[in-house]
Amino acid sequence: MLQACSGEKNTENSSNNDIIDTLSTVETGTIITEIIPESDPIYIMDTLEQRLIDSGLVNIEAIIPGILTDVRYSDTNNFMKTDVYGHLNRVYLQPSVAEDLKKCQAKLKEIDSSLTLLVYDGVRPRSVQQFMWDILDMPIGEKVKFVSNPKNGSLHNYGAAVDLTIAYTNGVVLDMGAGYDDIRKIAYPRHEAAYLDSGMLSQQQIDNRGLLRDVMRSGGFWGIQTEWWHFNRYSRDKAKGLFNIVE
Ligand SMILES: [Zn+2]
Repeated sequence: MLQACSGEKNTENSSNNDIIDTLSTVETGTIITEIIPESDPIYIMDTLEQRLIDSGLVNIEAIIPGILTDVRYSDTNNFMKTDVYGHLNRVYLQPSVAEDLKKCQAKLKEIDSSLTLLVYDGVRPRSVQQFMWDILDMPIGEKVKFVSNPKNGSLHNYGAAVDLTIAYTNGVVLDMGAGYDDIRKIAYPRHEAAYLDSGMLSQQQIDNRGLLRDVMRSGGFWGIQTEWWHFNRYSRDKAKGLFNIVE
């Protein structure tokens, strides 16, 4: 999987912004449930989230102590400048993948209890990925740098991949030398040594990425060469045999 996630905060691409300006929100489903826990602000569950639950996926915050989330695709703070998740503001994964992620969180806490995993994205329904694919107005060769082709299905579609970083428990993230969804080569793990040599990445930034890789490895996850934040728990073949794509 060459590009599992998406792209950088794409301020330079005006053609995208033109398209996206016409699409301020995405219809992800009819609101069917409104839950108002006593101590929480209003949380609205829509049919998209209900579909994840019906597919057997789990809300990671319900099972992983202390884990933080920042669902960028449920906000306009992403490379499309568009909220593609609507009311969905939680991260869902396959139960076994969430259990393995719990091991990674425990490992990180063992190393430094002031740190926590902070998750940007887990399962990404294929319909949402298709929407992201459709609104990017560019040749396919460029498009795949931002979003993987929904036709192929991605490990995010199965709920078997996760995008995340490390933060302090107050939510301040460690410096990884490039932001989430940054498509510049400085975000590529495979170019870290060259960027260290040129002085564009510091040893501390590379060590922070290394810490993330180490704790993820402890739960059976592995990274990819082009995104420091993306980790798979299964190969695509294995995921295909175990799970269904969440449409
Ligand atoms: Zn990803």
